[in-house]
Amino acid sequence: MPDVRITNLVKRFGETTVLEGVDAAIADGEFFTLLGPSGCGKSTTLNCVAGLERPSGGTISVGGTVFVGDGVFLQPEERNLGMVFQSYALWPHKTIAENLALPLKLRKIGRSERDRRIAEALAKVDLGHLAGRYPHQLSGGQQQRVALARALVYSPSVLLLDEPLSNLDAKLREQARAWLKRLQADLGITTVYVTHDQEEALALSDRIAVMSEGRMTQVGTPVEIYETPAAAEVAAFVGRCN
Ligand code: ADP
Ligand code: MG
Repeated sequence: MPDVRITNLVKRFGETTVLEGVDAAIADGEFFTLLGPSGCGKSTTLNCVAGLERPSGGTISVGGTVFVGDGVFLQPEERNLGMVFQSYALWPHKTIAENLALPLKLRKIGRSERDRRIAEALAKVDLGHLAGRYPHQLSGGQQQRVALARALVYSPSVLLLDEPLSNLDAKLREQARAWLKRLQADLGITTVYVTHDQEEALALSDRIAVMSEGRMTQVGTPVEIYETPAAAEVAAFVGRCN
């Protein structure tokens, strides 16, 4: 049973239609990537799932709960999703542990349970020993892992990651990729990942949806996408010309 179901998602900004009917069914535990060039509508799709944008049409449900559709619109905090953006925006004046405490306080989780969950989330990203530090005392890669821990700390049903590695330099990006793959293998949490980097998509994903101008042009496993691109635009984007 698919965990995330997106049907005929349409989004307009004024006169401009940026999503022209996106469909996707993402299985429980799947690592699903939206891959495509800048401006094709990846972030808009993710933001609609997160509840940060209101779709102009279509439906979104997760685990059978309708988020959007039939007159329903759940607020972001009602969706139980974890999200990490390109700019991970930790609070600079708060320690790592305090950064993780905030989303738990918002959910009215008490002190001792908070401490337990913070320790658990930081252990998942191998940063338990840095809980008392401030963000500027961490490397870019470590800060990114804190952002990931913060997204995981309240046990979301789905993780939404929007170009989370793009602010890292090439070497750190490589490490972060290996590390993300290991975390995914450990947790098995359903993940919707956005990137314009085809290598990243091919390395990490169970399935990839190639997007172009507000549509999904092909959905398949990395091997399917790479070996048998369905259209010239997919071939061009994943670097092969058949
Ligand atoms: P991607 O993440 O694939 O780079 P986006 O989803 O951010 O693409 O954007 C898709 C298109 O929608 C782009 O042309 C972008 O300029 C436009 N767009 C995104 N957000 C807004 C907005 N709030 N208002 C108007 N246009 C927007
Ligand atoms: Mg984007």
